Amino acid sequence: MGTKGIEIIGMDVKKVIDLLNRAFADEWLAYYQYWLGAKVAKGPMKDAVITELLQHAGDELRHAEMVAGRIIQLGGVPVCSPREWYEHANCGYAAPTDPYVGALLEQNIEGEQCAIGVYNAMLAVTREKDPVTHNLAVQILQDEVEHEEDLQSLLEDLRMVLKHGG
Ligand code: FE
Ligand code: FE
Ligand code: MG
Repeated sequence: MGTKGIEIIGMDVKKVIDLLNRAFADEWLAYYQYWLGAKVAKGPMKDAVITELLQHAGDELRHAEMVAGRIIQLGGVPVCSPREWYEHANCGYAAPTDPYVGALLEQNIEGEQCAIGVYNAMLAVTREKDPVTHNLAVQILQDEVEHEEDLQSLLEDLRMVLKHGG
């Protein structure tokens, strides 16, 4: 924890750490939801869907690393036990119990839309108060916006295939 780096923060540092820890729990759950979804996926366009789910899983894990790094920089401790992920998470976890590709896409679109809301709120709270966390939220938000669009366009293609044949 760097003292000057913390001194410049114009808001309650504990609040920033709390927001980051919530996002940290979200990222792990999102990672697992994508990772498991990619294992169980069945149906048309399966290969394309699995490729995208695995790519996104990797991104969510990278986000968890980015967020953990900032928590530690601020003198905080990342949520220590997976048991606590549920308590802290904003977006929860949607188990991929239905392996149909369309169901998986819908579940993960919902997750991305929640993530977009979370990082957008983090931006609003840290704006002009904590530029480093703000910048982190911008970077992650860019990925989440891309994720949502990737999944929605796959779902659109899937619906076309079902309607017109592939
Ligand atoms: Fe993420
Ligand atoms: Fe995402
Ligand atoms: Mg993608």
